[in-house]
Amino acid sequence: MKRLLLAVAVLPLLLTGCGGSAAPQTKSADIFAMDTYMNLKATGTDAEAAVSEASDRISALETLLSVTQETSEVYALNHANGAPTPLSAETQALLQTAAEVRAESGGALCISVYPVLRAWGFTTGSYRIPPQAERDALLAYADDAQIQPENGSLTLPDQMQIDFGALAKGYTGDAVMEIFRAHGITSAMINLGGNVQTLGTKPDGSAWRVGITDPMHPEQSLGTVEVTDRAVITSGNYERYFIGEDGRRYCHIIDPATGAPAENGLISVTVIGTEGVRCDALSTALFVEGTAKAAAHWRQAGDFEMICVTEDGRVLVSEGAAADFTPRSGLQTEVLRREG
Ligand code: ADP
Ligand code: MG
Repeated sequence: MKRLLLAVAVLPLLLTGCGGSAAPQTKSADIFAMDTYMNLKATGTDAEAAVSEASDRISALETLLSVTQETSEVYALNHANGAPTPLSAETQALLQTAAEVRAESGGALCISVYPVLRAWGFTTGSYRIPPQAERDALLAYADDAQIQPENGSLTLPDQMQIDFGALAKGYTGDAVMEIFRAHGITSAMINLGGNVQTLGTKPDGSAWRVGITDPMHPEQSLGTVEVTDRAVITSGNYERYFIGEDGRRYCHIIDPATGAPAENGLISVTVIGTEGVRCDALSTALFVEGTAKAAAHWRQAGDFEMICVTEDGRVLVSEGAAADFTPRSGLQTEVLRREG
């Protein structure tokens, strides 16, 4: 009898939680979107609705931003033949971040390098090494300085085409986090094809531990970084590449200075910061900039940290990330100092 009473007394507590609302739950979803595998995981009393709304938002952003889907806004921009295209708030925000990171990277980020990327086969899968004359001809249209939205619309110069591949996933991660916050989620981690973004801490109150891929051996980890409320976003030469007939590896990040895949000493750049879209744009830009310019860019900017791997195997960790990064056992790292 006593036990039964106890059970009756405990039941409402279980149903409502201590604060009078439902108990927090962890919900997770695996989705394939934007040409990559994604995982969303959120903990909160409204986690199910949060994850479901976030999944819908990802699909909507894919439909808006895809460079290949003929119904997307980006496709409309790229095929407007000199007519102005009205811009969504999302596209305006992406153009804004792209312009900022282009300026601070000396043009390393260049969303209008897309025709060159396509000539290498990266959007179709028909990989080839385009002759230099062909690259030069296409590079003539790659000039982000000419992208000038006016009154909420944009007219691209003749022949120019853009693609947000360098920063769309970071933007999408920010949009997911906004939805999570609106649903009262205080603990979440999402992985959008290697782009990791975190909200708050793990449910137990400890920091999230994010593994960084070793670009030389992508099946193993370089180490882990401990973060709360941060994006951890990597650009690497191991993510999307093909091996040419010459036996060399060609990756999907194009150096706008040459029209060829960037080979400026870095094979992987991880950027850690608060805003996903900026970190994503930066990871691509720093990869193109290469070892020395990336270090100078980091010193100049002051609002992000980074972990870079050089083609000769050095692991460079910026000062502000060093305390949070635990390299795998036996791995040597070098700390980049602010005061050179
Ligand atoms: P991932 O998609 O693997 O996370 P990135 O964030 O580095 O990698 O983005 C690479 C993508 O960015 C390419 O697939 C292409 O769409 C685009 N891109 C390639 N080179 C440049 C560049 N120099 N500037 C802007 N975008 C680029
Ligand atoms: Mg990027």
